[in-house]
Amino acid sequence: MEFKKNQEITLKIDDLGNNGEGIGHVDGYALFVKDALPGETIRAKIMKSKKKYGFARMMEVLECSDSGRVEPACPVARQCGGCTLQHLSYEKQLAYKEKKVKDCLVRIGGVNAEKVEWLPVLGMEMPWHYRNKAQFPVRMQKDDSGELRPVAGFYAGRTHSIIPVTDCAIQHPCMKEILETVLSWMQEQHVPAYDEVSHRGLVRHIYIRRAYTTSQIMVCLVINGRQISEDLKRTLVEILSGIPGMTGILLNINTDQTNVILGKKMLLLWGQEYIEDNIGGVRYHISPQSFYQVNPVQTEKLYQTALEFAGLTGEETVWDLYCGIGTISLFLAKNAKKVYGVEIVPEAIKNARENARLNGIYNAEFFCGAAEEVVPRLAEELAALADVVVVDPPRKGCDIVLLDTIVKMAPEKIVYVSCDPATLARDVKLLGEKGFEVKKVRACDMFGQGGHVETITLLTSKAR
Ligand code: SAH
Repeated sequence: MEFKKNQEITLKIDDLGNNGEGIGHVDGYALFVKDALPGETIRAKIMKSKKKYGFARMMEVLECSDSGRVEPACPVARQCGGCTLQHLSYEKQLAYKEKKVKDCLVRIGGVNAEKVEWLPVLGMEMPWHYRNKAQFPVRMQKDDSGELRPVAGFYAGRTHSIIPVTDCAIQHPCMKEILETVLSWMQEQHVPAYDEVSHRGLVRHIYIRRAYTTSQIMVCLVINGRQISEDLKRTLVEILSGIPGMTGILLNINTDQTNVILGKKMLLLWGQEYIEDNIGGVRYHISPQSFYQVNPVQTEKLYQTALEFAGLTGEETVWDLYCGIGTISLFLAKNAKKVYGVEIVPEAIKNARENARLNGIYNAEFFCGAAEEVVPRLAEELAALADVVVVDPPRKGCDIVLLDTIVKMAPEKIVYVSCDPATLARDVKLLGEKGFEVKKVRACDMFGQGGHVETITLLTSKAR
């Protein structure tokens, strides 16, 4: 079926897509409609029609039954590419995420739903102002009076034009003061923002991290240049170091024409290079280059669930693959005989080793490299059969070589922590064919107001 552009139709929305868009079906043909919600029947105008699916614009809600539509809290929620579900009640967001995980595991993963214990989604008590990390792009944009000024904010969905926002509804409130301070420093000192097209200008991003339990803050300006003048350094440090909690002020050098935010080199201007946080009694040092979960309250629930699923007695050898700064490794170490962590980012491994020492944990060992290269080698060298393997890969999921190696290591349990249910399901299918079955699944909401969802899955070996 194909529609004509601008054709108007009546459409019942029955699902939500990955970017929070409503999905309606006409004889099996899927139409994606931004801002529409399941439960609503709408008048829609066709914008683009392809062979198997198309895009339509929402014109009017004709009928609505229990769609959960609410007024977004943030005035720029519609334009901003950050939050995709603010117009949906939080309760419905959770229900949608829970359903998405189950649908993926059953449809793509081939999981028998009857044989799995589906634990209720772990929702947030306060789904606002929860994020501990922000990377705001900075550009020169004309204000209402036509004057060029530095602005920071978010990319409008799918584009690189900036919606100026310093007061983001999901970021920690300290971010607003920091952004405004840096922007007024740029204005006063005539520091130009970066321009993507001409590859000129200096400040590309303002990158901020805050540790939840210690309130320590790190600010890093990503610049298109190798250095800034002593005068600029001094004035920047002067205005930022007075902000309560400020622990480190850094420059990151990124002179490449790229969308990648951070360059390789960091220069410390003031304070120290890391912040310290605490999850469930374990202390962590976090470098700016290292991955760290963005939702501290939910992270503890996530790790606690991983620990429960692992069911450790103190006798087990545990592997934590894609371990970042060793968060899960150290969280589990107290209850295991030995933990091996593997991670690709050198700074993160440095943090992980430091963090083990910091907590007096001596039964954890860390290796730097791609898991799919390091683990096959180590598994042979150490002849280390594993009792429990934890994986927590990025969105693209686990490398197939790694999955095969895990199967060879023959653990009793695999705890799969995933930030994308589709790739989780793909990997679960493969593990299913090689003798592992899904026992327990629990979704955990780390991204309130956004469409992403985290899942913890326990697989056990059929052979043991
Ligand atoms: N478990 C950690 C980190 C999870 S994020 C935590 O909860 O904090 C995924 C991590 O995988 C990141 O730190 C990323 O740097 C790392 N990574 C990405 N590709 C990898 C690969 N091929 N091998 C090992 N680690 C990888």
